[in-house]
Amino acid sequence: MVIVGNGMAGHRLAQELRARRPEVRVTLVGEEPRPAYNRVLLSTVLAGTVSADALELADCGARMRLGVRALELDTERRRVTLSDGSVLGYETLVLATGARPVLPRVPGLAADDGGPAPGVSTFRTLADCTLISRLALGGSMAVLGGGLLGVEAARGLAGLGVDVTLVHPVGHLMENQLDPEAGEVLARMLRDLGVRVLLGVGASRWQPSPDEGELVLSDGRAVRCGGVVVTAGVAPVTELARSAGLAVGRGVVVDDRLRTSAPGVYAIGECAEHRGVCHGLVGPCWEQAAVLADVLVGKDTEYTGSRPVVRLKARDVDLAAMGRVPAEPDGDTELVRVSDVTRGRYGVLALRAERLVGAILLGLPDATGPVTQLHDSGSPAPADRFGLLLGTGAAVSETPDKLPERALVCRCNGVTKARLVEAWHAGARDPEALSVLHLGHHRLRQLFGHRAAAVHLAGARGRLTVHGRPGRP
Ligand SMILES: Cc1cc2nc3c(=O)[nH]c(=O)nc-3n(C[C@H](O)[C@H](O)[C@H](O)COP(=O)(O)OP(=O)(O)OC[C@H]3O[C@@H](n4cnc5c(N)ncnc54)[C@H](O)[C@@H]3O)c2cc1C
Repeated sequence: MVIVGNGMAGHRLAQELRARRPEVRVTLVGEEPRPAYNRVLLSTVLAGTVSADALELADCGARMRLGVRALELDTERRRVTLSDGSVLGYETLVLATGARPVLPRVPGLAADDGGPAPGVSTFRTLADCTLISRLALGGSMAVLGGGLLGVEAARGLAGLGVDVTLVHPVGHLMENQLDPEAGEVLARMLRDLGVRVLLGVGASRWQPSPDEGELVLSDGRAVRCGGVVVTAGVAPVTELARSAGLAVGRGVVVDDRLRTSAPGVYAIGECAEHRGVCHGLVGPCWEQAAVLADVLVGKDTEYTGSRPVVRLKARDVDLAAMGRVPAEPDGDTELVRVSDVTRGRYGVLALRAERLVGAILLGLPDATGPVTQLHDSGSPAPADRFGLLLGTGAAVSETPDKLPERALVCRCNGVTKARLVEAWHAGARDPEALSVLHLGHHRLRQLFGHRAAAVHLAGARGRLTVHGRPGRP
């Protein structure tokens, strides 16, 4: 079996398969030259709170072909040609090529080869983090795009003392997840943390110079800065599939068993389009990896979609958003809202037929666990809605015992309650052992010495974060 793409989805699939059928021979082809790493935590590297090495994911047991790109796929002869000229035969091939950042058509942002021009960086890889940190040495940066990544990048750089201007063409930040009021609270929080936030204005030109460049805005103003981080969205990577004649829409089209239009070829992660949806978050990647591993070992199972939760990873800004929150209550939807803008707290729950259909929680960390569990489980909401929003009411599950088996306990690593229970039965008795065993690793000693052996256990009432350190299991 060949997996193309050694990112979060491809690596997870190899792990899932190894746990089910260690005898399957898997080759992972990855364009990035380094072992797979937790991309979700890149913002913490940029913010200087976590080292790049700490993001490395544990060995998944696959044969690795790193630093090479899969160039050509022959689905008739079941062969894939790599950029170093080698050819791999396969019985099953999985595309997990992810997505790449989009550079807006602003003069000066793109170089002749279509990549970022001097002084410009995207924010997708560890190599990008290195470039951004170098540009930021000039002391000032602009961030173009106020979605999740833009906000995390701006906050991270500001925390390092960099003079940051966040430029967002829409009227409020993170408009895909937040309503205008939440967007306003977030902008205020960022301003208090030293980020200059410019809303409703785009960029019209980037003019680099050896010391300080100039980002000219659509209203004529100019931001002088050492560089620009572009966080203006991503597009699924589909060239390999497209040139092989597979059905491609926005992403590589897959059915409920994650099969593409070619026999023996599957697709998961951000490159895949399932029921018209291309996801941009890691939760769906992991769910797809688990389902595909089951499918490949012959289980009769299907992927029917995901209900992702967005959590911001920016110091001093606690934000979670899930589902859909309509602007106004309608006949069917009840909205419960608390707003304390000056103290940076805002929350809204959207409920339909007593069930949670959406929520935004800003500055309300105690509510995040219970509300997320309600969202995941689809259980009826408690009568005390304010208690739920403020995190002061009866927790949804008083004991972990009552949590459903498939409840996600750790979102950073996609760990369910069922896996922790399984690890417990396998002998794990403390958080460190659970953090290793839940992934089904066997070489405990090696892994305990691995800084990436981190697990975030989000309980019903709080959070416990455990990081395994070298020599300190
Ligand atoms: C800064 C940042 C913060 C994020 N924060 C969050 C968050 O808080 N929550 C969340 O849910 N998600 C977050 N995400 C998104 C999350 O990282 C992605 O959803 C996830 O990484 C997608 O996994 P993937 O395997 O599909 O793609 P990727 O992780 O991008 O992996 C794809 C890999 O395939 C390789 N590749 C592509 N084409 C080829 C080829 N032809 N041959 C060989 N290799 C190839 C690429 O180089 C890449 O290494 C964040 C992303 C970034 C960049």
